[in-house]
Amino acid sequence: MYDVNEIRADFPILSRKVNGQPLTYLDNGASAQKPQVVIDAVTRAYAEEYANVHRGLHYLSNLATEKYEGVRGIIARFLGVSDEEQIVLNSGTTEGINLIAYGWAMPRFEAGDEVILSVMEHHANIVPWHFLRERQGAVLKWVDVDSTGALDPQAVIDAITPRTKLIALTHMSNVLGTKVDVKTICEAARAKGVPVLVDGSQAAVHMPVNVEELGCDFYAITGHKLYGPSGSGAIFIHKDRMDEMQPFIGGGDMIREVTKDEVIYNDPPMKFEAGTPGIVQTIGLGVALDYMMGIGMPAIAAHEDALRDYARMKLDGLNWLQVQGTTPDKGAIFSFTLDGAAHAHDISTILDKKGVAVRAGQHCTGPLMEYLGLGATCRASFGMYNTTEEVDRLVEALELAHELFA
Ligand code: PLP
Repeated sequence: MYDVNEIRADFPILSRKVNGQPLTYLDNGASAQKPQVVIDAVTRAYAEEYANVHRGLHYLSNLATEKYEGVRGIIARFLGVSDEEQIVLNSGTTEGINLIAYGWAMPRFEAGDEVILSVMEHHANIVPWHFLRERQGAVLKWVDVDSTGALDPQAVIDAITPRTKLIALTHMSNVLGTKVDVKTICEAARAKGVPVLVDGSQAAVHMPVNVEELGCDFYAITGHKLYGPSGSGAIFIHKDRMDEMQPFIGGGDMIREVTKDEVIYNDPPMKFEAGTPGIVQTIGLGVALDYMMGIGMPAIAAHEDALRDYARMKLDGLNWLQVQGTTPDKGAIFSFTLDGAAHAHDISTILDKKGVAVRAGQHCTGPLMEYLGLGATCRASFGMYNTTEEVDRLVEALELAHELFA
């Protein structure tokens, strides 16, 4: 455990007021705030170290390239990947999963081939597979969660058939907080020759992740939730899968040679990184991950587990509020509805008046909302800098909303 006030002091935005109230930022599931080291790194990169990467022979281009390329190794370390050539840099999870859909899946899916998804996937891990359904006749097979929001790994394994070409699952639900036992699923899937893609957008923020121990083929992360800049991210691609992939976006940087008649691609991972990348965003992401590793992922997870338990205890005391997702070992993410007709947007507006920032809506999880029979929820999602006092402020604001709408 760490002193949360020391962590908070690293995040300048946390000391500002909103609507005359201290900011209680509980929208980390959507995007996290940035520590001063990241803000400074971004400023320095533009003020002193900026040029395009990979193509220049001049000092600044070499410096920017060195800083940018250095992040590949930081991400590899963060994800427990021994060979950084298996890390493809990109703008975030959405791009990462689309790369796999276009570059790996489209060339090998035939009509009737199946991709297994859980019902709690984010649209970023649904829509690319709908592309495959629309264009190539792929079949989307859905595995439900139980009434606590847990996903039984055996149910996923049982859904595998000879037509299954891919399993694509979140590692942690952005709505329910459910953690998925990816390791068990990967073991069984590997035995049946089925690759597994893991959406690590939430999990990698809140708990230690070792991709090699998990045994997955693809693992996507997104920088802006990892206390880094938006427009940064990466996807781990196992080298065997990388060898099977075709490039997705064509342009500069991903080629070695282009003539009128042919194109010779760069070696992976650059083969899958076309055009000028998010240079400064990626540099900022490297600093953010170093910052997180400096604190220690086990310490971050322990802090957030304690917050989760406190928040659960306080929210359970509100008998007019229903939390979605009640598995004991979940992430500190609470989606809820209130008795009565109050819409999630109205509740979040009241909370905002009290300086409490939460998200309201479908959270990009249409199939899950349909499964839960809900139009929308409010979601309070915690990060490494949140405190039990902030849980209390959330509860006070919720009590006010309840009084107003009861
Ligand atoms: N997957 C999950 C579980 C998410 O929570 C999110 C973001 O909300 C995404 C994917 C998409 O991430 P991005 O919009 O950064 O690409």
